[in-house]
This record gives sequence, structure tokens and C-alpha cells, in this order.
Amino acid sequence: MNTTRRTRIVATLGPATDAPGMLERTLREGVDVVRLNLSHGEADDHLRRAREAHAAAAKLGREVGVLADLQGPKIRIKRFANGPVQLETGADFTLDCRADAPLGDATHVGVSYLGLPGDVKAGDHLLLDDGLLELEVKSIDGAQIHCRVTIGGKLSDRKGLNRKGGGLSLGALSDKDRADIKLAAQLKADFLAVSFVRSADDIVEARKLLREAGGNAWLVAKIERAEAIAALEEIIDASDAVMVARGDLGVEIGDAELPGLQKKIIREALARNRVVITATQMLQSMVESPIPTRAEVLDVANAVIDGTDAVMLSQESAAGKHPDVAVAAMSRICLGAERQFVPVENISALTHRLDRTDQAIAMAAMFLATQMPVRAIVALTESGTTAQWLSRYRSSVPIYALTPSAEACRHMVLLRDVKPLPFEGKGAYPALVVREAVRQLFQSGDLAEGDRVLLTHGDHTGRGGGTNTLKLLSVGPDGIAESLRDL
Ligand code: PGA
Ligand code: MN
Repeated sequence: MNTTRRTRIVATLGPATDAPGMLERTLREGVDVVRLNLSHGEADDHLRRAREAHAAAAKLGREVGVLADLQGPKIRIKRFANGPVQLETGADFTLDCRADAPLGDATHVGVSYLGLPGDVKAGDHLLLDDGLLELEVKSIDGAQIHCRVTIGGKLSDRKGLNRKGGGLSLGALSDKDRADIKLAAQLKADFLAVSFVRSADDIVEARKLLREAGGNAWLVAKIERAEAIAALEEIIDASDAVMVARGDLGVEIGDAELPGLQKKIIREALARNRVVITATQMLQSMVESPIPTRAEVLDVANAVIDGTDAVMLSQESAAGKHPDVAVAAMSRICLGAERQFVPVENISALTHRLDRTDQAIAMAAMFLATQMPVRAIVALTESGTTAQWLSRYRSSVPIYALTPSAEACRHMVLLRDVKPLPFEGKGAYPALVVREAVRQLFQSGDLAEGDRVLLTHGDHTGRGGGTNTLKLLSVGPDGIAESLRDL
């Protein structure tokens, strides 16, 4: 665990991180969560990579989170008979939505989603290959969608297809996704990302399937469809975390809308006590280059300043020339941006309503943290819930989350500002447990004599969900909190 960086880094694993020693190097450079992209590779690859990530983290004496990312119902064209074709602007092109469509050529190609003719109408614009090519629908004749090429280019097998403005009625979970949810449970993923979410129901269903399969991961809703923007608040509430999935989102809603939406998604997620990951093309040029472009530096930094919990690497780490160099760049940029970040002073303005005890205690702690000099906030937490409430307020004070649960530690690695630490303290007297917690942080060098500390805990340490107490402590010369000296 990096002791000073506050923003978390998610890195996608792939052939590039399979190189000998590379996974360990990327973790050393600061990866907090590894992402398994279930759109590519076989189940055995993902099981192996999850195992290797845990082994590498153990070697470094820390935890790493594992995020399994479902492919989702991405619509793709089928194959061409003789390799890639060139579509000329102005030419006619037909999308053939029959199950037995023949192999394609420069005039037609099959489509994986047979329901597409029912979802489009004349005048619609369809985007191919992440928006590099564009078709305009002219007419629909049974299973054939006749189009005119409005932006031509080279088109190869199995490229993605989106409708500009969204509105395709495909459900979020394909048969492959249902099988992959079982895989995610099997490899004990800490996070499960659901692609192309349309509504809160998609998350509810994925969560149900995951729990039935025995998985305990947090659910991450990828915001990448126009419909998800319309249902944003319900989707955030149904999820544990959201991802600003800028790749597909940019194709569906147009790139000019992205900056505003990124800020809105981050703001809404924090206000609703959820975690947020900003993803895709953050350091894209580093797939090849050892240094990022200035624009990429600004992009990562702006996501940090927007308040994201985590930033993500996709191609850069999975298939790039030097995943470790990309992680190091990301870490460096986050640190620089965090120095520019201005914590919100008026934290009561961030809270709409306090309806939970742990939330109220967290807010009280963060209010004090902005009003007086404190060295740290310490949360004694079972599930990590209190740490999550605390970290939604984005102060400049570090939060130490002490928990006996290794699983809670692996969930909390995604929370900005939080340093999760294993802590075995149990006992009949919470005050003794609190004293022990402070002494542990003194012994590890995180606290020093004279430090003032805010600490939250419950009446029953060792049991979840009970935070109801806030203490203001001052650390003595031997690491004993002064007010707890004579217990
Ligand atoms: P993907 O999702 O990498 O699975 O496509 C992220 C995005 O669309 O930005
Ligand atoms: Mn996507």
C-alpha cells in the first residue's frame, strides 16, 4: 500500500502483465485493484491471473482487490469472407440480422443481435468500431437493415456496433455474463462490474445471481449507455460503485457531453455514499510511449480534482509495452493532483439528510477534521462501512480503517483517502480495544507523540454495523492515548 497517495489505481491484466515479474512490478508501482476483463480470454486465464495477483500482493505484504468485469451485451458485427473491407462514404451497406447470415463483404455483414431491426428506424445513425465509421439507416426489410455509409473507413471482423443516442432494448446480462458471474464467485472477486447497465434492475439481478453463486463482491455499474444517464440516481443507489466508462459512453452520447457527465457521475456517486472509478484511455498513448501526453496528464489530474476514488488503466496495462511504467506515471500524476485538490470546507452542504447513526458519526468526525488540526481519523470497522462514509467527504486528513476482516480490507482498497489495516482487537471493553488500536498505529509509525486523533467505533467491537461513538484522543509519548491511560 502506498502510504501517501490517496487516489486508487485499477489496472487491467492481460498478455502484457503476464510477462515474467511484470505483475509484481505493477503492484509495486502502486496498483490497488487488478481488473480481469471477461470480454477476452478463457476462464482458466482469469483464475490464474487472480491467483497470481494475490500471490504477488502477499509477497509485498499487502492486499490487492480483484475486479471481474463482465462483457455485457455488446453488439458486434459478424465476420467477413475475405478479411477487412473498405466502406466508401456514400455507398450502400446492409446489416443482415438473420441467424444464418452469410459471411460479409463490402455490401453487407451479419450482426450478433437478431433483434436489431425492431430497435431501429429510418434516419437512425449506427456507429461501428467505437464510432470510427457511421451508417445511416435508410429502410428496414424484415431482418435486413439497409443503410448508407455516412463516414467510411476500414471495417474488420467482430467490431462493436452502437446506436447514436442509445435506445437498444437488449438486456444487460447475456448468457455468457450469467456463466461469468459464477466464475467471478469462484475466483473470489472483490468487485463485479456489470457492463451496459440500463436500469437499477440490471444491478439487482446481477447481485442476486452473484449471491446465489456464493460471491460476496461489491457491484460496480458501468455507466456507458444513454439510458443509464436517464436512470443515474437509481442505478447509483442499487450499486456499491460506479464506473465512468468513457469509451462506450462517448460513442453513445457524443464526446462533447463526456466532461460534464464525468463530473456529474462523480458528484452524484459521492453524495449517495458510493465509490466511483474513472476509466478508459486515461494514458492511451502509453500503450506505445514511455511518457504520457500533456493532455493525458491533465485528464488523470482532472479526474482526481473532480473527486474520483480511482483511475483505471485498460490497454495501457493489459496490452501495452510497459505496464509498470504506465502505473508509475499514473501514481505520480495522482500525487501531483492531490496537492492541488481543495477539500470542501462546508461539509454540511454535501449532506442532504442524516438517517443513519454511522453516517451521522462520520459526518461529525469530518466536520471536526475540517475545523481543528488532527493528524488522522481512525475507524474501527468490521465491514468497512464507516470508512466509506468517512471517505465520501474528501478531507485532507488520512483515514485509517482497522478491521479484523481480510475481505473488508480488499473492498476498502478502492476507497480514496482510506488506508485499510488488519487489526485483531476484540474484547469486552471497547476502551481497551481503542487504546490498542492507537498503540498499533504508533508502533507502525503512522502516529506520533502529541498527535490528535479522531476515532470512531461501536459499543460492541467485533460486530458489524454499530458505529455510534466519536472520540478525540491525544497520543502520549509511549503511544497510549492520554485519556485511556488509567484504565
Ligand atoms: P470496456 O468498458 O473497456 O469494457 O469497454 C469501459 C468503457 O467502455 O469505457
Ligand atoms: Mn465499455
